[in-house]
Order: sequence, then C-alpha cells, then structure tokens
Amino acid sequence: MRISRIETFLAPPRWMFCRVETDDGIVGWGEPVVEGRAEPVRAAVEVLAEYLTGQDPLRIEDHWQVMTKGGFYRGGPVLSSAVAGLDQALWDIKGKAYGQPVHQLLGGPVRSKIRAYAWVGGDEPAAIREAVAAQIEAGFTAVKMNGSGRMTPVATRAEIRECVRRAETAREVLGEERDFGLDFHGRVSPANARRLLPLLAETAPMFVEEPVLSEHMNVMPALVNASNIPIALGERLYSRREFLAPLASGVAVLQPDISHAGGISELRRIAALAEVYGAQIAPHCPLGPVALAASLQVAFTTPNFLIQEQSIGIHYNQGAELLDYVADPEPFRFHAGSLARTERPGLSVEIDEAAVRTADKSGHAWRNPVWRHDDASFAEW
Ligand SMILES: [Mg+2]
Repeated sequence: MRISRIETFLAPPRWMFCRVETDDGIVGWGEPVVEGRAEPVRAAVEVLAEYLTGQDPLRIEDHWQVMTKGGFYRGGPVLSSAVAGLDQALWDIKGKAYGQPVHQLLGGPVRSKIRAYAWVGGDEPAAIREAVAAQIEAGFTAVKMNGSGRMTPVATRAEIRECVRRAETAREVLGEERDFGLDFHGRVSPANARRLLPLLAETAPMFVEEPVLSEHMNVMPALVNASNIPIALGERLYSRREFLAPLASGVAVLQPDISHAGGISELRRIAALAEVYGAQIAPHCPLGPVALAASLQVAFTTPNFLIQEQSIGIHYNQGAELLDYVADPEPFRFHAGSLARTERPGLSVEIDEAAVRTADKSGHAWRNPVWRHDDASFAEW
C-alpha cells in the first residue's frame, strides 16, 4: 500500500482538514491547523506531502521522525501542526487497514467513556449563572470559562474582585459534585496571577489554565505554590521536550493539543512523560471532528487522562459547527457529559466529504481578535 494523494481543505469556522488517500482506496483524515494561521500550515502540509506521496502509510513512526527532523530546522506551531494532522490521517489509515480503532493499536482501552467539559461565558465572560445552569441541564458535569476579559497588568482591586466573584458564581451553581476549569488564557500577568490564585482557592476550581503565558515558565514554580489549585497549561507547547519544564515546576495538568503537538504519536509520549511526574492530561481541543476523534482515541488508552475539551457550542464556532462535517454524529453524542467508546476502525469518525469539499470552496480567513487596553496599547487575548 502506498500514499497516492494528499489534499487539504479550509473549513469554517477556523479549521483545516487533510485527506490522505492510498492506492488501495483507504482514506485517512487529519486536522492540521493553527487557529488564525491556517494558510501557513496548509503550505507546510503541501511541502511534507512531497515526501509522503509514494510512501508506505503504515510506517507512521518513521514518517514522524522524517517530517519532524528531516528539514534540519524544526519545531514551532506551523510545522508541528502540519505533522500533527498528517500523523492523525496516517493513524486513521492504519486503523482502517487493520479493521481496528486506533486505541486498540495503541494498547487497548483503559476506560469505557470520556468525560468532557463544555465552554461557558464567552471571551469577555458574562451571564455565567445562566450559562452554567444550561450546561448542567444538558448533562455536563464540568464546564470551563475564561477567568477574565482583558486585564490591566497590575489590576485594580475591583478587577480582581470581579474575577473571584465570577468563580464564586460558577461554584454556587455547580454545587460540590461538579467541576469548573478557569482559563486565564495567558491574558493575566504574573503579578495578577499571584494575587488571584490564593483568592480563588476557596472556589476549588478543577484547575487554573495558563495562569500566565507559557513563555513565562520562570514564574511557574511560584504560581504552583501560590495556592492549592492545580495548574494546567500546554496548548501553546509543541513537543514532549517543551513539557519537561512545566512538569518539573509542579504543573498538575498538561493540555497538549493533538493538532498542534505532533499528533497522536507525540500526544501519547507527552502523556507517558506526564505519568512519570504524577501529572494528568486534559487535551486542548477547540477544533473540529477529526481533532476531537483523535483526542478520544488517545484518551481511551491513556491511564493518566483527566478530562477532554471539545468545541460543540464554543464561542468561536460562528457559522459552522463540529457536527456539520460528520456523516454520523453518534461518536459525538454526549451521555451525562461523557462520550462512549466506539469500536469503529481508525479514528472512529465518518467525515462528510461532500460537506468538507463544499466548505473549502468559500474557505475562511479567521484571525484572532486583537485586543487593546484603554490607552490603546496591545493587550493579550
Ligand atoms: Mg486555553
């Protein structure tokens, strides 16, 4: 069996799919994308496709090594995301070739269902009480929300209080049995994070995510020790190597993205590295159906898995939704906030190819919002 053709498709709201075809008719799907930088990732996939075309698709690890290291210059979000999507598609092909779901090829399932959380509150978190209540009504046992909107680097007492009050509201609605994650989104400065964490401890979030930007890894040990709240991060890290420093700092939850951090192959290794440190993984996934399906395959076979992000109903999904691109929504049907294990071959997702091809005709040009402070200086989004 040889790889005969590789195509890419830009699909709203802000996603990209790749389709890898083999000469005996098996097709694998992947989702290589960096949100807001889809076009450069598409170009990177095209360059990697030059190498992959004509190769045996089952030699995933060898292809991963060549794609990651064979260009001399390596790493970064664009290349790692291109490799990630192609890696997912190769695993999909392998599963279909052997008639097995990918989690069986990775050692078999260690759990029967995957707990997931739903997003609430939007970019500038508002109407938390109503939003959390609606997700409880929908059956979710956990939600995640932004801790704040834009925030001045050394915040006023009122800004800090508002952030704590929002978490208190979420806790009040959730009760003691359900969880919430609080995403600081890298928009909170080290000074503000140190102030906030002890004040939030009483609300007992499941984790605080990206308490500061991951580039400020030097302050991470202090933040780990600033409260008893588990610290989570990792959506902007791209290889197992980059997860070593946070683990050594005492970060409790790693959030690699299966479409940014080298795909199924590398996510497995990041999870194994986390296990050495007693840390959990909670994969980042505000993306489409292939990224979610690939994340689930890893989650089914990973012992130190905590909870899965998913994008259904997320505030970024304007104009298209995850289920728009699947022929059968069953693998993404929630039962009391969890997704059940399926035994379909490959990634266990059936992509609606006609819908993907139609979406690509209009494509998208999604870009991050650019935020400004009151004085017009740049603010982290
Ligand atoms: Mg995040």
